[in-house]
Amino acid sequence: MSDNVCLSCGACCAAFRVSFDRMELDDEGGAVPARLVDIENDYTCRMRGTDYLKPRCIALGGTVGVKVSCGIYSSRPGPCREFAPHAEHGIFPEACNRARSRHGLAALACEND
Ligand code: SF4
Ligand code: SF4
Repeated sequence: MSDNVCLSCGACCAAFRVSFDRMELDDEGGAVPARLVDIENDYTCRMRGTDYLKPRCIALGGTVGVKVSCGIYSSRPGPCREFAPHAEHGIFPEACNRARSRHGLAALACEND
């Protein structure tokens, strides 16, 4: 895992709103710490900081583009689990490179390039 580009990136954790079902929260029987989210409505919530003018998830540690870590990696919400594995398998969707470009990071080659 040491060559995982995500560990020296983190751009997607500081680019997009991360909204998900409140059923994923630990106080609803899930795993995501409820203290780290903002409630959106009766059904959804979002990782705090991800809707700010300069988005950055409250759980993100480190410096984007240098070295990062997710403080709740084993308890991260569904959207994060669905996004990151693409990179781990060498597939870099357009959204990944869009996030990287927002932080001045070079685009990564797609698997089919
Ligand atoms: S999925 Fe893409 S944008 Fe997110 S940390 Fe990995 S390389 Fe960066
Ligand atoms: S919970 Fe972790 S993986 Fe998800 S946006 Fe926040 S720092 Fe990134």
